Amino acid sequence: MSDSDGKKTLGIRGGPRSGQVKQSFSHGRTKNVVVETKRKRVVVPKPGAAKAGAGSPQSGDPSKRPAGISDAEMERRLKALAAAKANEADEARQRAEDEKRREEDRQRRREEAEAKEREQREIEEAARRKAEEEEREKREAEEARKRAAAAPKAAEPQQPPASPADAEAEASRGGAAAKAAPRKVERERADDRPRGNKARDDNRRSGKLTVNQALSGEGGRQRSMAAMKRKQERMRQKAMGGAQEREKIVRDVQVPETIVVSELANRMAERVADVVKELMKMGMMVTQNQSIDADTAELIIEEFGHRIVRVSDADVEQVIDSVEDKPEDLESRPPVITIMGHVDHGKTSLLDAIRNAKVVAGEAGGITQHIGAYQVKTDSGAVLSFLDTPGHAAFTSMRARGAQVTDIVVLVVAADDSVMPQTIEAINHAKAAGVPMIVAINKCDKPQADPMKVRTELLQHEVVVEAMSGEVQDVEVSAHTGQGLDELLEAIALQAEILELKANPKRAALGAVIEAQLDVGRGPVATVLVQNGTLRQGDIFVVGEQWGKVRALVNDQGDRVQEAGPSVPVEVLGLNGTPEAGDVLNVVETEAQAREIAEYRHQAAKDKRAAAGAATTLDQLMAKAKEDESVSELPVLVKADVQGSAEAIVQAMEKIGNEEVRVRVLHAGVGAITETDVGLAEASGAPIVGFNVRANAPARNAANQKGVEIRYYSVIYDLVDDIKAAASGLLSAEIRENFIGYAEIKEVFKVSGVGKVAGCLVTEGVARRSAGVRLLRDNVVIHEGTLKTLKRFKDEVKEVQSGQECGMAFENYDDIRPSDVIEIFEREEVERQLD
Ligand code: GDP
Repeated sequence: MSDSDGKKTLGIRGGPRSGQVKQSFSHGRTKNVVVETKRKRVVVPKPGAAKAGAGSPQSGDPSKRPAGISDAEMERRLKALAAAKANEADEARQRAEDEKRREEDRQRRREEAEAKEREQREIEEAARRKAEEEEREKREAEEARKRAAAAPKAAEPQQPPASPADAEAEASRGGAAAKAAPRKVERERADDRPRGNKARDDNRRSGKLTVNQALSGEGGRQRSMAAMKRKQERMRQKAMGGAQEREKIVRDVQVPETIVVSELANRMAERVADVVKELMKMGMMVTQNQSIDADTAELIIEEFGHRIVRVSDADVEQVIDSVEDKPEDLESRPPVITIMGHVDHGKTSLLDAIRNAKVVAGEAGGITQHIGAYQVKTDSGAVLSFLDTPGHAAFTSMRARGAQVTDIVVLVVAADDSVMPQTIEAINHAKAAGVPMIVAINKCDKPQADPMKVRTELLQHEVVVEAMSGEVQDVEVSAHTGQGLDELLEAIALQAEILELKANPKRAALGAVIEAQLDVGRGPVATVLVQNGTLRQGDIFVVGEQWGKVRALVNDQGDRVQEAGPSVPVEVLGLNGTPEAGDVLNVVETEAQAREIAEYRHQAAKDKRAAAGAATTLDQLMAKAKEDESVSELPVLVKADVQGSAEAIVQAMEKIGNEEVRVRVLHAGVGAITETDVGLAEASGAPIVGFNVRANAPARNAANQKGVEIRYYSVIYDLVDDIKAAASGLLSAEIRENFIGYAEIKEVFKVSGVGKVAGCLVTEGVARRSAGVRLLRDNVVIHEGTLKTLKRFKDEVKEVQSGQECGMAFENYDDIRPSDVIEIFEREEVERQLD
């Protein structure tokens, strides 16, 4: 634009036209120039300009009325330009034509006066302008015809722009048309001239018109048209509005078992405020973020005139492939074995012994991964998958989540200890799950071992082993000497054969999470035991409330693999969150499906917790508390470093309580304590217990603000004891440990004779030589111990204050890294009173 400005100013094509240069309008710059010229002509002419214009169009006008540019002006400009370029020859021709035309005009006028006067008058009566326009059109038509006859150039039809311009000019003149007949004629002549030079005129127009159209004429008109249309539409809608809307409104609203108020409003396409208001009318004080049950939702939906469509989990999760496998697709799969038994009877030792004896026999280093499960091959070639998480706690909690993973239970009973309480529990669990057992009588290397005693005692619990003519296989083993291990494995293989375990490796994978944790370097990692189908890299899956896309699969030997078939345990990377042990993994087709299902489950779980926990309103809570005087509940939120600990803590907590008091675990998860946890805890008036994890900074602040208590533990027994005490109302508010400071590791140095030394900045509180320290990596406790050294510059010091730098080294530990955090704590005597 600026270019064109410049050109205009300099270009002075219109030099003769003068006005251009001087005028600068606030409107479109381009216009300005030309417009002036026109204007002068146009405005001035009225009285006598026609003549002037006709004679010398370009001369008309330097500086006059720069204001109000209109379409008419633009048109005029065009004409002016055309005129300007007209050749003298053209002019001569034109003059001749003009004369002719004048004559014709006169004639025509006469004719008009005679023949069309009536019409014109009628129109003039209505609106003179229109009348004039019509006249002009007629005139032009005639002229065109004449021109066609007189000069070939003029043969082309008149340009529409010419008429509006004239029309406006005339309009401005008012009804003077008739009176100003001569003037009119002259003007027409002037107008005609450019037309005579059609070709040039056109060229110009094509160039200029673009600008015109862009800047004023067309744009303006379009805008107003659009505005008009919009207005009309609005009017129409207003007029029809009510009825139309009501018709539209009737929707099928899908409602699961519970639904958040705002989502309900959304699904009905109603305003949230209206829905909340309606709920209030029904006596329910809820906010838009709270959930209501499907029955309440139904009332609301009816109130708004919609239809409810109840959906269940199955509807959302339909996409999960639940097709029955054809018998011909089924192939036999390895059995999955869980080892159970009383504490210290040697479960872990046995698992290790089997692993060491059979896994990676030929592999260099023989470093095995503890991923929660491993596979071994017996001498006879059978492959067995062992779950590496001994104990019935894991077994039951997985079963509780619907993951029946175990095919065979190996019941470990120490030959020197015989049947103990947990042995009996294990038997009951196995029986409840309908899983066959094999009895491993362990520690047979011990002199005091008495396998027969074990067999007899088992009888009392309805476990009749083969040696007692029963059907349960029994094997005497020693985890220490390796005695009987092969026999045990063969016994398992035999049992598996009897079970005829089959799966279809060709279908989309289905699996169960054995273990899951948030890995510092790799993000959420889950060990999944594939139960059916084949899990492949790149598969999209949903697992519990999480979903993901398999980024990598790592087997029990730490090798990357492309796929994992039935009964194969693999570590799965690529999750978007940490699932829970026992969660079922399903491969689905699209990310959208996976996300939808995960979100649905997440919401459902949240709703369930909310419904169970926070009730709906404070009033209700209070009422509930009063009603429930007989049984009081202590809600607790648990965060732990690994899934295993979390499960163990939950199990332990569920056992706490009697008729009067009960511990309710609101939520148990893995990883640092977050703001969300604090929010949930606050809502339910629950304390948070962190087992080997810490609250991150925002969570700590939130907890301080909201008065949420966070307790940290590194020994499960302590934790359980405390909760027990709290549940009985005995726990004082004192904190077991006081954190006196935090330091962040900036650099790690190797100092000969000392080992690794952390160059730290004390970020909070104080670092004290005598205090206990913990090493936190991503808010997870990596190590707990004491300091070997605390240095400020070269000197050993007792204390270093916040904001100062210092050197620290741990006693007997040196896996320290930059950006690890050192937590400095002191134990208080108060804690002992709790016990
Ligand atoms: P878990 O609690 O059932 O996992 O039992 P552990 O595997 O931790 O074993 C408890 C104790 O028994 C450990 O001190 C083991 O060394 C010991 N132990 C396990 N198996 C044997 C065995 O076959 N012979 C002997 N003599 N000791 C064993």
